Amino acid sequence: MPRRATKIVATLGPASSDPALLEAMIRGGVNVVRLNFSHGKAQDHVDRARLVREASQRAGREVAIMADLQGPKIRVGKFAEGKVMLEPGAAFVLDASRTELGDLQGVGLDYKELPRDVKAGDVLLLNDGLIVLNVVAVKGEQVHTTVKLGGELSNNKGINKQGGGLTAPALTAKDMDDIKTAMSLQADYVAVSFPKNATDMEMARQLCNVACTNGHRPGLIAKIERAEAIPELDRILAVSDGIMVARGDLAVEVGNAAVPGLQKHMIKRARELDKLVITATQMMESMIVNPVPTRAEVSDVANAVLDGTDAVMLSAETAAGKYPLETVEMMAAVCLEAEKTDHDPLDDDFVDAHFNRIDHAIAMGALFTAHHLKAKAIVALTDSGSTALWMSRHSVRMPIYALTPKVATQRKMALMRNVSPLLMDTSADRDTALADAEAHLKKRGIVQAGDVYAITVGEPMGTPGGTNTLKICRAT
Ligand code: PGA
Ligand code: MN
Repeated sequence: MPRRATKIVATLGPASSDPALLEAMIRGGVNVVRLNFSHGKAQDHVDRARLVREASQRAGREVAIMADLQGPKIRVGKFAEGKVMLEPGAAFVLDASRTELGDLQGVGLDYKELPRDVKAGDVLLLNDGLIVLNVVAVKGEQVHTTVKLGGELSNNKGINKQGGGLTAPALTAKDMDDIKTAMSLQADYVAVSFPKNATDMEMARQLCNVACTNGHRPGLIAKIERAEAIPELDRILAVSDGIMVARGDLAVEVGNAAVPGLQKHMIKRARELDKLVITATQMMESMIVNPVPTRAEVSDVANAVLDGTDAVMLSAETAAGKYPLETVEMMAAVCLEAEKTDHDPLDDDFVDAHFNRIDHAIAMGALFTAHHLKAKAIVALTDSGSTALWMSRHSVRMPIYALTPKVATQRKMALMRNVSPLLMDTSADRDTALADAEAHLKKRGIVQAGDVYAITVGEPMGTPGGTNTLKICRAT
């Protein structure tokens, strides 16, 4: 299979839980498996994680596991008939104190704070924006609205406020429990839903640290899906390992039309700040039911690749769709083709890159040197994965091979664009490690005798953050 730089995140669900199918999906290109904590109990997630590790072992490819927390449920309650059909112009009351089931006049609220969060003139979007309600008055626990855009409203549909401003905390009691589960199954990444600011992410980090018993440190991904998070982006990035452009909820809050521009901005900013970025939601939506994507979906995936995203994500396509494997294969093919048209030599701002750490300086030096020598590959012997991360924040045409003795680092690097993580024992001395690294490259056909490659290493070996040496080699 040709080498693909862009990574694929696939959501596990009923459509992809068959062990053989999951194995085929990993062989077909999945790099990160997302466990959606909105569905299932703690034991289900533990079982699913085992399923993923086993399938990955059979496929001979390490994948990262991303635990995606549910976040606050800002939802309406249930209806007597399961659903109602709302007509435009009708009055409809969202009532936090209502105990009886909903009907055409109104419905209760799972989210009891709503009457405090809205005022007359606000616009509420229900069911991912398919239903629009104008708030006309707030009376005690009741939010009186008129239906602007009608349609079918069924049990427990989500509520967003246009422009943002719902006060629900990002981490619910359930999320706090789920973090413990994510830690127990050694999730490589934990994704936090609906963070508003850096404090939400810092809190998630602390909860992970408290639940940590064996030194396992997951990467933290902030899902950017609230209007309030946009002005906080840099501060959120500073305390996270990456972000997800969560276009589903984000589009409801900021309006569909604003999302493509925000996507480009977020991807650029994440890379500039040495962080990871996943582009998510509806990328191959029509493949939930069709064996081929639309032209628009193909372009969407390709454009995210050209924007510089680390990964593109599949949600219902692989969790509940009819063609999970075909979708992964199609997405991989689209990424590969898009990468061919990506002819950035070395980004314009490379010379302005700021760094003050020795290991970061070596990473940048390797990139610059390898680029000008037209090296076949850049190789990083890395303990924590940070050398590979820094290298991968700039677009170069040559592949980055990250060799690590730690499987947790190998899995984490599965999300990094243009990084091929390999496991290698580096416990012997430096010369042995360098010889082993070259043997690895030759065995995989990455370099042949006479080819130039750049390799970074730390002396003494095995110190995280200890990279201090760049060697330019000609393979023998
Ligand atoms: P979700 O997040 O699928 O968990 O809602 C992604 C999004 O909102 O786009
Ligand atoms: Mn969301």
